[in-house]
Amino acid sequence: MIDIIEYPETDAQRYLDLMSPNAAGRLTKLAARLSGRNVIHINSTAYGGGVAEILHSAVPLSNALGVDTRRVVITPKEPRFFDVTKRIHNMLQGAEGRLSDDELAVYYGCLDDVADEVQRTGLSADIWFLHDPQLLPLGRLLNQCHAGARIWIVHIDLTQPNPWLMDELLPLTAAYDKLVCSLDAYVPARLPEGLEVQIAPPAIDPLTLKNSAMSPEQAAEITGALGIDASRPLVTQVSRFDIWKDPWGVIDAYRLARKTHPGLQLALLGLSQANDDPEGAQVVESVRDYAGGDRGIHLFFSPDGLPATNDEIVNALQTHSEVLVQKSTREGFGLTVSEGMWKGKPIIGGNVGGIRRQIVDGESGYLVDSADEAGKRIAQLLADPDLRATIGSNAKERVRQRFLIPRLLYDYLQAAQRACSASLQTGTG
Ligand code: UDP
Repeated sequence: MIDIIEYPETDAQRYLDLMSPNAAGRLTKLAARLSGRNVIHINSTAYGGGVAEILHSAVPLSNALGVDTRRVVITPKEPRFFDVTKRIHNMLQGAEGRLSDDELAVYYGCLDDVADEVQRTGLSADIWFLHDPQLLPLGRLLNQCHAGARIWIVHIDLTQPNPWLMDELLPLTAAYDKLVCSLDAYVPARLPEGLEVQIAPPAIDPLTLKNSAMSPEQAAEITGALGIDASRPLVTQVSRFDIWKDPWGVIDAYRLARKTHPGLQLALLGLSQANDDPEGAQVVESVRDYAGGDRGIHLFFSPDGLPATNDEIVNALQTHSEVLVQKSTREGFGLTVSEGMWKGKPIIGGNVGGIRRQIVDGESGYLVDSADEAGKRIAQLLADPDLRATIGSNAKERVRQRFLIPRLLYDYLQAAQRACSASLQTGTG
């Protein structure tokens, strides 16, 4: 019901070297203040999706800086749990409807079981980070049996949540010492009095296989081995197959751009379906139908039989493509956007949520409101190599300054430190 994920040691200095001396000094000083404290992060999937990606880097780095940090993943036995939490995710992003009593019972019941398991295994921490709505009810349950400050981190776009669901879930935040959101705009109205909020935009790890510099030759080789013609222009969207990522809109945009660039190809890469996302298979089917046998469209939805690892393929396609797209219609914060920008590529993003903070329109990428606009931007960028180079280089610089993992870890440790002092003061810890 819960797994503890082990990580090999990492070298903190490599990350500190990426930072300005001031920022590196602040991070090491803050970590030193937290040494002797135990931190646990809990989320609902070991791999697939942005949260897993962040924790995969932030947890080892935190340890390397001397803060004892563990990562726990819940593995509920009840198969309907992830159907319900995916509905919750969609509803928090605006989908209509209500959960049935049965669905609520599955949600709360599974987290009761997780809390029992936490207690049985004697897991304890000074600071608990519980990620996303999948874990929200656990804060209250930890209250009953465990000391420690509790922080709820919500990574999703909460600007237009389903009001019925907000009424159901918001009272659960009262069990927390702190709430962390990706953007100011996502902080829910009507929070329980006294609940502190911190903003921490997500970030990427520049030192992973996925994000470190790949030579154009290697990128072309992997691209070719995937069955894509590496000598013709390529547009790529890297994303789980998910309704909010609008893969159909990406296909429309590609079709429009192909009118002026007939050799154009499109890759839609969604290998890392998270195991907390049961809708993926239906979306794949629908997108396959929509692509209608077009040989210029390459869909990748399973890692089986591919010539390289997931991370190498993401890196190769982002490095090799002329233009990247993230045409989401909701996006708390798109790690794929920062990953693409870090490769020095122009990216066209949906004008929504966190993407609006990541891309400065016309400077470090383009923001679009429709497939039509996306298609026109693709065509414009394909026709102008200098524009691609300028936008790409601005994009990389923007990520360097704002969206790399040491900064996010600093934000998390700051939240931990503040929550710890708050819980000691109020006696909840
Ligand atoms: N990803 C991947 N392989 C894929 C598709 C996605 O590794 O085939 C990764 C992607 O590189 C990124 C994460 O999954 O690190 C997706 O995070 P994002 O914040 O963009 O979206 P989410 O899936 O969390 O909604």
